[in-house]
Amino acid sequence: MASSPTQDNNGGAKRVAVVGAGVSGLAAAYKLSLRGLNVTIFEAEERAGGKLRSVSQNGLIWDEGANTMTETEGDVSYLLDNLRLREKQQFPISQNKRYIVRDGTPVLLPSNPFALIKSNILSTQSKIQMLLEPFFWKKNNDSKILETHESVGGFFRRHFGQEVVDYLIDPFVGGVNAGDPESLSMAHAFPELWNLEKRFGSIIVGAVRSKISAKKVDGGGMNASSKSKRRIRGSFSFFGGMQTLTDALCEEVGKDKLNLQTRVLELSCPCSQEPSLKNWSISYAPHFDKHLKEQSFDAVIMTAPLCDVKQMKITKRGKPFVLDFIPEVNYMPLSVVITSFKKENVKRPLEGFGVLVPSKEQQNGLKSLGTLFSSMMFPDRAPSDLYLYTTFIGGSRNQELAKASRDELKQIVTSDLRQLLGAEGEPTFVNHLYWSKAFPLYGHDYNSAIEAINKMEKNLPGFFYAGNHRGGLSVGKAISSGCKAADLVVSYLDSSLEDNLSRENCT
Ligand SMILES: Cc1cc2nc3c(=O)[nH]c(=O)nc-3n(C[C@H](O)[C@H](O)[C@H](O)COP(=O)(O)OP(=O)(O)OC[C@H]3O[C@@H](n4cnc5c(N)ncnc54)[C@H](O)[C@@H]3O)c2cc1C
Repeated sequence: MASSPTQDNNGGAKRVAVVGAGVSGLAAAYKLSLRGLNVTIFEAEERAGGKLRSVSQNGLIWDEGANTMTETEGDVSYLLDNLRLREKQQFPISQNKRYIVRDGTPVLLPSNPFALIKSNILSTQSKIQMLLEPFFWKKNNDSKILETHESVGGFFRRHFGQEVVDYLIDPFVGGVNAGDPESLSMAHAFPELWNLEKRFGSIIVGAVRSKISAKKVDGGGMNASSKSKRRIRGSFSFFGGMQTLTDALCEEVGKDKLNLQTRVLELSCPCSQEPSLKNWSISYAPHFDKHLKEQSFDAVIMTAPLCDVKQMKITKRGKPFVLDFIPEVNYMPLSVVITSFKKENVKRPLEGFGVLVPSKEQQNGLKSLGTLFSSMMFPDRAPSDLYLYTTFIGGSRNQELAKASRDELKQIVTSDLRQLLGAEGEPTFVNHLYWSKAFPLYGHDYNSAIEAINKMEKNLPGFFYAGNHRGGLSVGKAISSGCKAADLVVSYLDSSLEDNLSRENCT
């Protein structure tokens, strides 16, 4: 009997396993179930959401992982519309007001090039260098380093000089992915800018010309212009925090599809030519059960971090498929510290999104990477007499400090917020979460991680990888990667069906 792409030989829906219930895995599972596939999600932890984790306690609401996201990816718009999340979106008040510390004091980050020229965040020399970048940017002539190994710091130094790296790029990458400009690979961390240089040479010329051509395309129709409007609205969260998104995905996929506290340990692929056989068998350890259980699937989407995949045992046609080609990925540790202060005790509160601390400002006694003004952005996240702050400590800059005790972290946050905002006395509330592997570092040798992912997909039919180890670290990019993997699974099942049909016709 011939089957449809989504049905097996007995007329039942084809089965797909998704390993990991972070936002990429849940987005993939959601898209697969919309296509009529039978999805099973395996999640090692006791909760779904991965790096999206919101807590509501004592009248406070905070996020311990991602705090905001953007709608730059089309797949994000798709989810917001389909999950009816538009009405739950929460846009931060004064989100364009972002601050960088200079000489121990927060300075408003200029929101456009003219404001940058007027501001005192950079010296006159650096401002002139920025203006003249189209004429004086330097090519990468260092033959000692492979072009694709160039650091983020090296790239921006060639275009804008050291001060821009110290006071704009360093705090940005520290705040966004806990990395540092010298360890991050430009090609992997900022592929769009990397390609802009390839096309236009100057970043400024490239940015202007891309904007002009994007405007021409947007002018084409209603859909395009409404899309760009959404993008202009910038970062957002949801009422109740970022986990509202992953909760909605779980709800839509169906809680019965989600196996929590279930760690996948082994995968086996007979890679059989026999169409009636399911190709993948997955062994997992359900909580409280010492015995491994096994289930069969037609395809697998893996979203576990590469360090976890490396621990798994994979068998292909009965022989071990050794994963020694997966490199050791460097992960950035990070502590997220939540504090609240009585409003009357904060002498210089700042309206806006938050403040980032350049590494150089450690010489002025500041130890945190930055602080989000959580209740300034979202006033419903704290009682009206309190300010709520979310401070990040550690990352590439201070890996040891990320592991510090709650008391030590509280001291650091209290001291930094006293200096930056005039927060006096003790916080009324402190909470702390340590992420030992908050972000994979897209370092100079990250090519080998991408190659390892490609090798697994090439050599293991029906195995697809998604998540923040490929294509970007943001929530939007992780969603996009999950949706893309779901599309690839559907095409794979389609093509398997065609193969089976042509085999049936030959017999
Ligand atoms: C502190 C912090 C702040 C951030 N802030 C932002 C922000 O403001 N904006 C933004 O866009 N991005 C932010 N990010 C990044 C973003 O949140 C992540 O890149 C994204 O959520 C990753 O999603 P994922 O699905 O790829 O991975 P994960 O969320 O890591 O999900 C992977 C899942 O796989 C599970 N797993 C692992 N091994 C197994 C196994 N063997 N069996 C079963 N399950 C397994 C894990 O338990 C986990 O739940 C932040 C990240 C952190 C840590």
